[in-house]
Amino acid sequence: MKILVINAGSSSLKYQLIDTADNKVIAKGLCERIGIENSKLTYKPTGKEGFELVQDMKDHTDAIQLVLNALVDPVHGVIADMKEIDAVGHRVVHGGEKFAESVLLTDEVIETIESLNDLAPLHNPANLMGIRACKAIMPNTPMVGVFDTAFHQTMPPEAFIYALPYEAYTEHMVRRYGFHGTSHKYVSMRALAMLGKPAEGTKIITCHLGNGSSVAAIKDGKCIDTSMGLTPLEGLPMGTRSGDIDPAIVGYLVRRLGLNMKEMDTYMNKKSGMLGISGVSSDFRDLSAAANEGNERAELALKVFAYRVKKYIGAYAAALDGVDAIVFTAGVGENDRGMRERILTGLDYLGVDVDFEYNRNAPRGEEITISKPESKVKVFVIPTDEELMIAMDAERLAKQA
Ligand code: AMP
Repeated sequence: MKILVINAGSSSLKYQLIDTADNKVIAKGLCERIGIENSKLTYKPTGKEGFELVQDMKDHTDAIQLVLNALVDPVHGVIADMKEIDAVGHRVVHGGEKFAESVLLTDEVIETIESLNDLAPLHNPANLMGIRACKAIMPNTPMVGVFDTAFHQTMPPEAFIYALPYEAYTEHMVRRYGFHGTSHKYVSMRALAMLGKPAEGTKIITCHLGNGSSVAAIKDGKCIDTSMGLTPLEGLPMGTRSGDIDPAIVGYLVRRLGLNMKEMDTYMNKKSGMLGISGVSSDFRDLSAAANEGNERAELALKVFAYRVKKYIGAYAAALDGVDAIVFTAGVGENDRGMRERILTGLDYLGVDVDFEYNRNAPRGEEITISKPESKVKVFVIPTDEELMIAMDAERLAKQA
């Protein structure tokens, strides 16, 4: 099947056309500055010449139309007719407790997603704009919603309940939801294949380390805990997000700095994390370069990050009653060999025996094992592929439509 995968933001829209016969990308690209002047379409067909087009897109419907025009273009196109697109898979950030799995996007489902807007005010409304635009242009093509939160819905209450008055949960939807679920699901499935083991009885810790980072504990193929919470701010320190902090710091700094809540939100989401500690950058490549030149705060940021990932691995090994495999994925996890070494050093007590020599020169962009053959716990680096996971779910549900 040919599946169009859409990830719509408020002024951007990423797309991939994937052939599920061989799981290959046929074409991909991006619309930027939607609703702003000088909107731009970038179009990259596989094995053909692509193009960039600067043309105003007043809304997401204009953007989708331009994407479809590119896909069927007589010269640069990859399909003859948009009817060749069998289904569209949409990334949706927040499914609340309503969606534990991907779902066909009926009008009723779209309304339910809308009712969750409060939980992800920056993301869900943008995702819905993408969904509505596709529905308008392709009314007869099955649409599927794939949620960042869905994979984590299997967490037991002791993992997702915060120790606040219970009404915060029952009346205000406050609980741990977790994010990056599509990625954690994909790499944990690949890890099972690499282990050659069934999901039942297998314990995996997946570390999605990128600009946003989260860790998940997976038992029997199901998530039992994850580090992000009601929002993606909780858990590991990230590029610009604080991750876990004493919640009383918020009130303290609001008073000390005279910030309002919106400013405090920006302080914790955009000015903290690696950028906040180092004062250099949120990008791990810049931090490594600065640390190598003797910048102590860049070195400290890297140390804090590694220490906190290590603490979560220890915590989740305890939550899982042991661990069979640890997986590294996303920008930092897949590429930053030095960070992997920092995190994995001293985990011998868990049965983790890494081939650090191999890790230091390990290839990038492919699935590799960096633990020694005799290591009790396997350590894998697995490039994530959220788009492929979305396409696979869309195909499965479209077949049932
Ligand atoms: P993501 O959010 O998964 O796209 O990951 C983005 C992060 O990956 C950025 O902080 C980059 O610094 C980091 N990253 C990408 N490539 C490398 C690399 N070769 N070495 C270290 N970090 C990298």
